[in-house]
Amino acid sequence: MRAWPDPDVPVLPGHGLPLSLHDTSSGAAGVAAPGQNAGLYVCGITPYDATHMGHAATYLAFDLLVRSWRDAGKQVRYVQNVTDIDDPLLERAAATGQDWRELADRETALFAEDMKALRVIPPDVYLGAVETIPWVVEGVEKLLAEGAAYRVEGGAVDPDGPSEPDGDVYFDITSDSRFGSVSHYDEPTMLDLFAERGGDPGRPGKKHPLDPLLWRVARQGEPSWDGGSLGAGRPGWHIECVAIALKELDAPFDVQGGGSDLIFPHHEMGSSHAHVLTRVWPYARTYVHAGMVGLDGEKMSKSKGNLVLVSKLRADGVDPMAIRLAVLAHHYRCDWSWTKHGLQEAVERLARWREAVSRPTGPDATALLNQIRRHLADDLDAPSALGAVDHWVDLQRTSGGEDPDAPGMVTDAVDSLLGVRL
Ligand code: ZN
Repeated sequence: MRAWPDPDVPVLPGHGLPLSLHDTSSGAAGVAAPGQNAGLYVCGITPYDATHMGHAATYLAFDLLVRSWRDAGKQVRYVQNVTDIDDPLLERAAATGQDWRELADRETALFAEDMKALRVIPPDVYLGAVETIPWVVEGVEKLLAEGAAYRVEGGAVDPDGPSEPDGDVYFDITSDSRFGSVSHYDEPTMLDLFAERGGDPGRPGKKHPLDPLLWRVARQGEPSWDGGSLGAGRPGWHIECVAIALKELDAPFDVQGGGSDLIFPHHEMGSSHAHVLTRVWPYARTYVHAGMVGLDGEKMSKSKGNLVLVSKLRADGVDPMAIRLAVLAHHYRCDWSWTKHGLQEAVERLARWREAVSRPTGPDATALLNQIRRHLADDLDAPSALGAVDHWVDLQRTSGGEDPDAPGMVTDAVDSLLGVRL
């Protein structure tokens, strides 16, 4: 699968600082990727709906990380998947009378357009579930051979429902001695979240209600792929990411990222699958999660009809750089709400910044560059970085300066580190 094109990223004088990130698993901050290389896996979209502000905020957070790592001279290997086959996609396609492939292709293309407009650096490796199925099959076969997975007999899930075929493969969570080490949630919380986020705690025949699906054998009317000894079918969600990450990054890799709704079950299950498959723990050294974005104080959801879509804002003529600034005004780990007021503030900030750098000279900007780097190195503190730029802009607007290089340096720093093209 092809990602969107790379934006130009100016190279800045000097270099960035060691970057500290908050790790969900340990609850503490630490330097991520202390060496020369940095490996990053960020869970990608399930392309059944357009990119809403919550997705955008997550990918913008990891874009800041990639930019800071590159600025610090690291070789970054960034891997992202697209869950281009899964229940929500098939359900949406059926409900709207579309072909699931056309729906996935269209939404994946729209996502790429959104990311390009927001100047998000694309992943180096961008893979769909559909194109990596043999890797999943290999992983599931190995989990079965290790005794960490089992097949479930078919039958009716509820008395009036359809009969399920034999052979779906599930992961046995008790096979991983470290299960729970990512989220640290208690079992009632896990059960609630598992049911809420795509799990099937009530499926008859499972050893434990939390055991997640690894391989769903073919059903009438559902797409399926060759599964070798597993039989034809399609992958479960968690093993899809693990199969891709283990092929494309060495375990343990530096950062596993996503929205905070992926902490459980997705990242917990992925950690367990990988631990059993590789005997290496942790799977990722640092688990980084972006907060959820609401609208005017309410949770954003399709069912409430209150999704703020990047593509819709773009179609309405909103400058993508203002969208970017509106998102970066909030720390990535916070839950926050999109508001018209917040967008208006970002539009005005962008205009102030553009005016300030359009002047031929300005106050010295060396300190500003250091401040932006320092704030981003402190758990990607974008709001403080924006505040530092505001301060330089205020100085420029009140007293100005004589340095002919300063406006260009500010333009480059804001472009390179914050992804905002002035
Ligand atoms: Zn994932």
